[in-house]
Amino acid sequence: MPLTVGIVDEARDGERRVAASPASTRALVAAEHSVVLQTGAGAAAGWPDDEYTTAGAVIAASATEVLETASLLLCVRGSGPGAATWRDAGSAHTLAGLFDPLGEPTAIRELAERGATVFAIDLLPRITRAQPMDVLSSQATVAGYKAVIVAASLSPRLFPMLTYAAGTIPPAKVLVLGAGVAGLQAIATARRLGSNVSAYDVRAAVREQIESLGARFVDLAGVAAGGEDASGYATGADEAELARQREALAAEIAASDVVVTTALVPGQRSPVLVTAAAIAAMKPGSVIVDLAAERGGNCEGTVAGKTVDIGGVILVGAENLPATLPQDASQMLGRNLANFVLHIAGDGNIDLDTDDPIVQGTLVARGGRVVHDRVAALLEGPAGETVSEPAS
Ligand code: NAD
Repeated sequence: MPLTVGIVDEARDGERRVAASPASTRALVAAEHSVVLQTGAGAAAGWPDDEYTTAGAVIAASATEVLETASLLLCVRGSGPGAATWRDAGSAHTLAGLFDPLGEPTAIRELAERGATVFAIDLLPRITRAQPMDVLSSQATVAGYKAVIVAASLSPRLFPMLTYAAGTIPPAKVLVLGAGVAGLQAIATARRLGSNVSAYDVRAAVREQIESLGARFVDLAGVAAGGEDASGYATGADEAELARQREALAAEIAASDVVVTTALVPGQRSPVLVTAAAIAAMKPGSVIVDLAAERGGNCEGTVAGKTVDIGGVILVGAENLPATLPQDASQMLGRNLANFVLHIAGDGNIDLDTDDPIVQGTLVARGGRVVHDRVAALLEGPAGETVSEPAS
């Protein structure tokens, strides 16, 4: 039986994205699902209601009406302060979207207690056939691009080398720390702007990717390359190794006009790579954009959502940068979520009892319980039955 897919207006508290675009609505409708959208849900992303109705959606007057009508709800942000709507979800609902389940496991428990079935797409296994649904990659791509644009707009320096009648302006020096999806896009963007880019990641495997973008890989003498798990994620370094990294990076940081930090370790506080002493050694007017701000930050002095001046160095605690480019971020997110819906409910039924690694990897709440082992482990006390994470 086709599903009724619901989209509510999440544009508040700085969130301007929407969980379906007109194009992704069309894809769901083409698969014979119905789409019901709260009026104005796409407005902040630049899409009025009539673009959705042309794509085949039905417009509802309120979030309550969407919840009354739809069985599958797509979410931009299913946890955090702006996620109040989802507290009205219940056993009639399946939710799919970004939930930050390792950062905010209590939000998953609350939804489980309400009886909702929840797929946290943040936990999608990084396997090839899941790539069209990979919301983390699509949103990290947007964040990495925007981080460099923010840095360029705050920097007192031009990024490219410019030769003019009276001489030459050398290119700005940009250092990117962490070269996952966001970091690689930051490198590519900084290169497109003509700057001189260096990058470092604890995973030695990324050297080739960094160099293929025309950047220099920073080899830290005396610092061992870090490990990665089966999904390609960094496994985290111990404090002694991190201290060696910080020390070895200080000279690179001091020589940079712009530093973009993106280092994350899933389920852990982000590693501190830039110390107060390293910031003090930077030239006044230098800019740091910390993309890890929401997970504790990669710099001493980062304040999430704030831009601070530390002795003339501007430190941006970047928060939810994808929401600042809501149209393309939602275009990508909507496609990812529609692909997920078509994957789990191709024939109209959501089969939860399957060995499919995509279903197992993302299913976090079902039948009143938290059913994902990593999320359950983060919650205090018995959190219910658990399922193993799939091998990827
Ligand atoms: P992430 O956001 O978890 O982390 C960002 C980067 O920070 C990573 O490259 C990580 O190695 C780095 N990092 C962590 N600790 C660090 C430290 N102490 N110093 C320096 N760097 C540090 O990672 P991500 O961007 O989500 O990507 C994770 C992996 O998944 C990458 O290997 C990526 O290529 C891979 N991936 C695979 C697929 C797929 O479908 N096969 C899709 C997307 C990403």
